[in-house]
Amino acid sequence: MLSMTHLVTGAALGRDLRPWGAFVVGLASHLLLDVLPHQDHSSSWLGALDLLTGILVARNLGILSHKGAFCGALGGAIPDVEVALSHLLGYDFPKVFPSHKGSLHCGGAGARGVVFELLLLGTVLLALTPRSEHA
Ligand SMILES: [Zn+2]
Repeated sequence: MLSMTHLVTGAALGRDLRPWGAFVVGLASHLLLDVLPHQDHSSSWLGALDLLTGILVARNLGILSHKGAFCGALGGAIPDVEVALSHLLGYDFPKVFPSHKGSLHCGGAGARGVVFELLLLGTVLLALTPRSEHA
Protein backbone atom coordinates (compact mmCIF):
# COMPACT_ATOMS: atom_id res chain seq x y z
CA MET A 1 0.00 0.00 0.00
CA LEU A 2 1.14 3.57 -0.61
CA SER A 3 3.01 5.29 2.21
CA MET A 4 0.77 8.27 1.58
CA THR A 5 -2.34 6.18 2.23
CA HIS A 6 -0.91 4.91 5.52
CA LEU A 7 0.22 8.39 6.49
CA VAL A 8 -3.04 10.28 5.82
CA THR A 9 -5.25 7.50 7.21
CA GLY A 10 -3.28 7.52 10.47
CA ALA A 11 -3.56 11.32 10.57
CA ALA A 12 -7.31 11.27 9.97
CA LEU A 13 -7.90 8.69 12.68
CA GLY A 14 -5.52 10.25 15.17
CA ARG A 15 -6.23 13.95 14.80
CA ASP A 16 -8.69 14.13 17.70
CA LEU A 17 -6.69 11.85 20.02
CA ARG A 18 -3.82 12.37 22.43
CA PRO A 19 -0.40 11.71 20.87
CA TRP A 20 0.19 8.14 22.16
CA GLY A 21 -3.38 7.10 21.43
CA ALA A 22 -3.06 8.56 17.95
CA PHE A 23 0.20 6.66 17.40
CA VAL A 24 -1.35 3.34 18.46
CA VAL A 25 -4.42 3.95 16.29
CA GLY A 26 -2.08 4.75 13.40
CA LEU A 27 -0.27 1.44 13.92
CA ALA A 28 -3.59 -0.41 14.00
CA SER A 29 -4.70 1.31 10.80
CA HIS A 30 -1.49 0.17 9.10
CA LEU A 31 -2.29 -3.43 9.98
CA LEU A 32 -5.86 -3.17 8.68
CA LEU A 33 -4.85 -1.39 5.47
CA ASP A 34 -2.16 -3.98 4.71
CA VAL A 35 -4.68 -6.82 4.82
CA LEU A 36 -7.06 -5.05 2.40
CA PRO A 37 -6.53 -5.76 -1.32
CA HIS A 38 -3.94 -3.36 -2.77
CA GLN A 39 -0.97 -3.29 -5.12
CA ASP A 40 2.49 -2.66 -3.66
CA HIS A 41 5.25 -0.66 -5.35
CA SER A 42 7.17 -2.30 -8.14
CA SER A 43 10.36 -0.30 -7.56
CA SER A 44 12.25 1.52 -4.83
CA TRP A 45 12.20 4.86 -6.62
CA LEU A 46 8.37 4.74 -6.77
CA GLY A 47 8.39 4.08 -3.03
CA ALA A 48 10.64 7.09 -2.45
CA LEU A 49 8.43 9.28 -4.67
CA ASP A 50 5.35 8.06 -2.79
CA LEU A 51 6.91 8.89 0.57
CA LEU A 52 8.02 12.35 -0.59
CA THR A 53 4.55 13.07 -1.99
CA GLY A 54 2.98 11.90 1.27
CA ILE A 55 5.19 14.22 3.30
CA LEU A 56 4.32 17.17 1.05
CA VAL A 57 0.60 16.38 1.27
CA ALA A 58 0.92 16.07 5.05
CA ARG A 59 2.63 19.44 5.20
CA ASN A 60 -0.03 21.10 3.06
CA LEU A 61 -2.86 19.61 5.15
CA GLY A 62 -1.28 20.83 8.41
CA ILE A 63 -0.62 17.30 9.64
CA LEU A 64 2.97 18.08 10.57
CA SER A 65 1.93 20.87 12.95
CA HIS A 66 -0.95 19.05 14.68
CA LYS A 67 0.14 16.67 17.48
CA GLY A 68 -2.65 14.11 17.17
CA ALA A 69 -2.60 14.04 13.38
CA PHE A 70 1.20 13.90 13.30
CA CYS A 71 1.41 11.01 15.78
CA GLY A 72 -1.36 9.15 13.94
CA ALA A 73 0.49 9.66 10.66
CA LEU A 74 3.74 8.50 12.23
CA GLY A 75 2.09 5.36 13.61
CA GLY A 76 0.46 4.75 10.26
CA ALA A 77 3.64 5.06 8.23
CA ILE A 78 6.45 3.82 10.47
CA PRO A 79 5.87 0.04 10.10
CA ASP A 80 6.95 0.26 6.46
CA VAL A 81 10.44 1.41 7.47
CA GLU A 82 11.42 -2.26 7.67
CA VAL A 83 10.06 -2.82 4.16
CA ALA A 84 11.93 0.22 2.83
CA LEU A 85 15.16 -0.95 4.49
CA SER A 86 14.74 -4.38 2.96
CA HIS A 87 14.40 -2.82 -0.51
CA LEU A 88 17.30 -0.41 0.01
CA LEU A 89 19.63 -3.10 1.32
CA GLY A 90 18.54 -5.63 -1.29
CA TYR A 91 18.01 -8.27 1.37
CA ASP A 92 14.62 -9.78 2.27
CA PHE A 93 15.12 -10.17 6.05
CA PRO A 94 12.33 -11.47 8.32
CA LYS A 95 9.85 -8.69 9.12
CA VAL A 96 8.58 -7.78 12.59
CA PHE A 97 5.27 -6.04 11.90
CA PRO A 98 2.41 -8.61 11.80
CA SER A 99 0.97 -7.59 8.43
CA HIS A 100 4.39 -7.90 6.80
CA LYS A 101 4.62 -11.59 7.62
CA GLY A 102 3.37 -13.62 4.69
CA SER A 103 -0.28 -14.51 4.55
CA LEU A 104 -1.76 -11.42 6.25
CA HIS A 105 -0.42 -9.06 3.61
CA CYS A 106 -2.54 -8.56 0.47
CA GLY A 107 -0.27 -6.45 -1.72
CA GLY A 108 -0.65 -8.18 -5.07
CA ALA A 109 -4.24 -7.36 -6.00
CA GLY A 110 -3.35 -5.71 -9.34
CA ALA A 111 -5.68 -3.16 -10.94
CA ARG A 112 -8.50 -3.97 -8.51
CA GLY A 113 -6.17 -3.09 -5.62
CA VAL A 114 -5.04 0.17 -7.28
CA VAL A 115 -8.66 1.30 -7.80
CA PHE A 116 -9.61 0.36 -4.25
CA GLU A 117 -6.65 2.22 -2.77
CA LEU A 118 -7.22 5.35 -4.87
CA LEU A 119 -10.86 5.46 -3.72
CA LEU A 120 -9.76 5.01 -0.12
CA LEU A 121 -7.02 7.64 -0.45
CA GLY A 122 -9.41 10.15 -2.05
CA THR A 123 -11.95 9.62 0.72
CA VAL A 124 -9.37 10.12 3.47
CA LEU A 125 -7.94 13.22 1.77
CA LEU A 126 -11.43 14.70 1.51
CA ALA A 127 -11.98 14.01 5.21
CA LEU A 128 -8.71 15.79 6.07
CA THR A 129 -9.18 18.81 3.81
CA PRO A 130 -10.14 21.89 5.83
CA ARG A 131 -13.64 23.08 5.01
CA SER A 132 -14.56 26.65 4.26
CA GLU A 133 -16.92 28.21 6.81
CA HIS A 134 -18.93 29.89 4.02
CA ALA A 135 -22.47 28.60 3.73
ZN1 LIG B 1 2.97 -2.29 5.59
